[in-house]
Amino acid sequence: ACEILDTQAVLAERKTRFASNVKLSYRRPVTFLRGWRHHLFDERGRPYLDAYNNVPHVGHAHPRIRAVASEQLARMNSNTRYLHPAQIKLAQRLTAKLPPELEICFFVNSGSEANELALRLARAASGGYDIITPDHGYHGNTTGAIDISAYKFNRPGMSGRKPWVHLVDVADDYRGRFRRDDPQRALHYAQQIDAALDEIRQNGGRLAGFIAETFPSVGGQIIPPEGYLDEVYQRIRAAGGICIADEVQTGLGRLGDYYFGFEQQKVRPDIVVLGKPLGNGHPVGAVITTREIAERFAQGPEYFSTFGGSNLSCLIASEVLDIVEDEALQENARAMGARLLGGMRELGARHEIIGDVRGFGLFTGLDLVKDRESREPATEVADYVMNRLRDLRILVGREGPQDNILKIRPPLTIEAEDVDMLLDRLDLCLKEAGSALFAAT
Ligand code: PMP
Repeated sequence: ACEILDTQAVLAERKTRFASNVKLSYRRPVTFLRGWRHHLFDERGRPYLDAYNNVPHVGHAHPRIRAVASEQLARMNSNTRYLHPAQIKLAQRLTAKLPPELEICFFVNSGSEANELALRLARAASGGYDIITPDHGYHGNTTGAIDISAYKFNRPGMSGRKPWVHLVDVADDYRGRFRRDDPQRALHYAQQIDAALDEIRQNGGRLAGFIAETFPSVGGQIIPPEGYLDEVYQRIRAAGGICIADEVQTGLGRLGDYYFGFEQQKVRPDIVVLGKPLGNGHPVGAVITTREIAERFAQGPEYFSTFGGSNLSCLIASEVLDIVEDEALQENARAMGARLLGGMRELGARHEIIGDVRGFGLFTGLDLVKDRESREPATEVADYVMNRLRDLRILVGREGPQDNILKIRPPLTIEAEDVDMLLDRLDLCLKEAGSALFAAT
């Protein structure tokens, strides 16, 4: 008989061997042993639609990724101190997609590490130390990245905001201070930079730069109003600061209409940070900047990462970028994103619980509310829907300061039939949740 993994035993052992803040998804945790495109298979081979994971950008278990990885592992794997065409190839592929002044690449092992390096670059180039960043941001799990991630440092058990970190509101025009009824909302959010700059001056500090996820994800799948980043960048640059775009979630074609999120905001960052989807599951991140910034940084000690920019990592990342082109995945993200967002808006017309539908391409969110007027977050409903969808074998997540925003962010390979199934099941879960919620009130 074929052996089936004892998931209860794995769960028990996990509790023995891991800290309780190393979390599992879902009330009924799920085991996955295989993947294929935008599907995952559990220990019994049952299929799940993966509508959540952005790391398998070109799909789980892509044969081309497997081929380049096994081929390179059979040859050798080493670091950036030796010449190898793989590093050049990845640098060429990435810079071809970016504005021409972003021409110098660094390769690292994760998004956190990429943001750490971005901070060092901004400080080296500006001579300042202070950072301005939107509230509820997330840039990684290392000490420096946590310091600039309000989503983490503001939680119980954390040391709070460092004096060199200055928060502005996240430009959420559904729940925030300035909403869609204010035609000047982009400007009003950006003007908060002026107050942050005053604070830095009063403290006797000096600005290094501004960092933001181009579309804030843990903040609630936020799409900032048009013109927001342009107004911000003008202010930052006038004060001598460096503008950093964390494109870990928004880069590489996910947005459909745009290869990078900053294109939608019509800005040109000084530093672009990439991670997650770049290696399709293999740990690789990148930082791309201008020659001027890189040269200031190069006045310091050697930059070296043992694994960052290995031949293997660079070949895998180049392959990911090539697959996005060859399989027209950006175009698919545009078409499937439009289908998904259209379907979600249609659900919004029928379900009172849906307060807002937002997104771009396959970066989407459903803001669930108890009441459309007050916009009180329907956190329990989001929790219910996410777990119920898991039981129906569809993976989605939830996000936002109140955890009430359903996050739907599938691999770029998703097809129309899958989108329709997702919408259909979502409809069912919202019906169930809605009748329970409104029967209770
Ligand atoms: N920036 C953003 C926007 C992210 O979403 C993440 C990861 N969720 C990171 C940085 C950190 O990346 P990593 O987990 O690879 O260190």
